[in-house]
This record gives sequence, structure tokens and C-alpha cells, in this order.
Amino acid sequence: MSILIKDAWIVTQNERREIKRGNVYMENNLITEIGNVNVEAEHVIDGRNKILIPGLINTHTHVPMTGMRGIADDVDLFDFLQKVWEVEGKMTKEDIYLGSKMGIEEMLRTGTTAFVDMYSYEDAVAKAVKEKGIRGFLGWAVVNQDITTQGGTPVKNAEEFIRKYKGEELITPLIAPHAVYTCDEETLLSARDVAERHNTLMTIHISETRKEVYDHRKKTGMRPVEWLDKIGFFREGIIAAHLVWLTLREIKILAEHGVVASHNPTSNMKLGNGGSMPMPEMLNEGMRITLGTDSVVSNNNLDMFEVMKFAALLHKNERWDPKITNAQRILDFATVDAAKALGLNAGSIEEGKLADVVLINPWPNGMPLSKENIVSNIVYALNGLNVEMTVVNGKIVWKS
Ligand SMILES: [Zn+2]
Repeated sequence: MSILIKDAWIVTQNERREIKRGNVYMENNLITEIGNVNVEAEHVIDGRNKILIPGLINTHTHVPMTGMRGIADDVDLFDFLQKVWEVEGKMTKEDIYLGSKMGIEEMLRTGTTAFVDMYSYEDAVAKAVKEKGIRGFLGWAVVNQDITTQGGTPVKNAEEFIRKYKGEELITPLIAPHAVYTCDEETLLSARDVAERHNTLMTIHISETRKEVYDHRKKTGMRPVEWLDKIGFFREGIIAAHLVWLTLREIKILAEHGVVASHNPTSNMKLGNGGSMPMPEMLNEGMRITLGTDSVVSNNNLDMFEVMKFAALLHKNERWDPKITNAQRILDFATVDAAKALGLNAGSIEEGKLADVVLINPWPNGMPLSKENIVSNIVYALNGLNVEMTVVNGKIVWKS
């Protein structure tokens, strides 16, 4: 397939964060030319008064839960989990596949081109990923044997899934130990061992609530990050969701091991987790930050534009300082920084990068576009419903 987008505002997200006006040509699965290019293409798209951005990357989802939207609102995390686990216990593989398809459609519709997932039976998610053409970093969830509802042993299931899907074009399999309150030392270390042997990423929930931290300290005498460090869990290539309740010492430990944060502001605020992820301190220590929605049961949608806006607003309000973060930095989290964290050749619109792009129609919000305001309009004014076309791996996978 070849696609030529003509005369658009291009938010390149390149090294110099340039904003250009012109054409973008994509052939097969790559961006091949930017600028005054005028060649024949199978699809020629009028980009006038529209904005082209790199596809957004959602680094924390449980996409099969899309069918469960609205089942556990206005409760705290532990009541939330009880409700969710009750429903999950009755879920079939077909339910997981159908929920994933719904969630992926929502992601493509709202400008997400890649996502990191955590769930059991990721093979059913993989089927939906292939059908819909999104990029999936699929983490098979692992919990202790005595609480799992998966057949067999979770760590072995995860390893089998990784073996089967390694090397697929759109799917990157990984292992996803759930949290310190569902995985003991042995489970965590065997998950780590699988990641080490197959050289995959890992994703995990860490320090989402104060209760998690207090309970863990009661049990082990240590906070979750300190304890994970002591047992030797950390390695390169870990995406840790939430990281709300951290000390400066814990931030230093995470930074030292190159752990990447998946910041989920909407989910955290909705569950009333209190406080907020210490973003400025994490950036000071050199941690990489990315953004996630979490599942639609705690979000309650998969719109990354909304997450970008909430991420900015949360920290401005929390620190009594509107200058604590800015639109460009937030857009970086959702694009270039996330791509780097995942080792993905995407996240910016440059020649040679994967053709994962999103065309936005700012109408009907009606705004004068200029180089100076375009990024802030993306983060603060627009939402996923402004997306007019989503391209993943050089294919138009959604178009209004
Ligand atoms: Zn989660």
C-alpha cells in the first residue's frame, strides 16, 4: 500500500520537535518522504487544515475488559478488584477476544497505534490485534498459582505464548507479573527469568495505592520498590504502571535500573488513589515516563488525548504550578518517549520510521492553527473524536 497525505500540518516529533507544512509519503510500512513530494499513490489524502501526528502509544491497558465498562464505578481499588475478579472468573476465551476487538476499535478510532496489554489468554487478544491491524505489546499476566483462574501454570503459559508469537510483525509478546500483592518472590523471579531467557519486556503494577504499600511493609518490612530491588527483580525493559506512592529513595532505585513509568492519571484519580505519581522528581532522576489509560473499568475509555490532558492538569494542580509541565513534554510521553521505551522504530514522523500516523481534523473545535499553538491545541483542546484517519504499519486501519 502507498499513501500520500497532502498539505497537512506535520507535528514531526523529531529531535528538534519541528512542525512542518507539506506532504508525507508512506510506502509499504515506512514513512519514505516528507516535504514537497508529489508521487503517484494508491491513497491520496487531502490534509489541508488538518494535523498529522505520530500514532499515540498507550503503555497500560487490559483491553479484554472493554466489555466490562461500567461494572465497578465509584469504589476503591480493592472493592474494584473483587468485582472484576468475580466477572473474570466466568469469562471465556471468546469473551476475551470480543472485548479485545471492541477495545482495539476504540483505540484506532481515537488515534492509538500501539498498546501494552496485561491479561491472561493473550493469544485471544493476539487474534483481535491481527484482525484489526494495531500494534500490540501483549503481556501474559502472571499471578501466584493458588489464586489464578488460568488453566495450568501462569508462568509456563506466558512462556509458551512468548515462544509462539515472537517475531510476528504486529505482535510483541511479553510477560506481565501482576503486582506484589498477587505474586510472591518465587513467581516474580520466575517471570523475570522468562523475560531474561527470551529477551522480552516485562510489565507490572507497582505502588498504585497507599494500602498496597502499607500492606507490603507490614508483610516484609519494606516498601514494594525496595523489596523488589532486594529480591533482584529489576532489569532493563520493565514498564511499571502507576508508581503513585514512591519515596525519593525508591525513585532513585527505579532510575538506576532503567524502569519506565506508565503514568495512568485518569485511572488513579477515578479510584481516588490520593496524591499523584511524583513526575517532576522522576524526571529529575532521569526516569522515562509514558502514558496509559488502564482498563475501561477504571478510566472509562481508551482515549489517549484525554489521558494527555489529565496528565498535565493533575500535576499543575497538585504542585500549584502551571509551569511544572507543558504540552510538548506531555505529547513526548505519548509518542517518542513511549516508542523508545518499547524499542519501537516509531513515535515520530521522519523518513525511515514506521508508518504509524494519525490525521486529526480540528473542526468543529474551530481553531486558528499556527506553529506556536498546535501542540497545546492537541493536548488541551482536542480529543480522540477529532481523529479522522489512523495508519498503522502503512495501512489505513481506521477512517471516518
Ligand atoms: Zn492495570
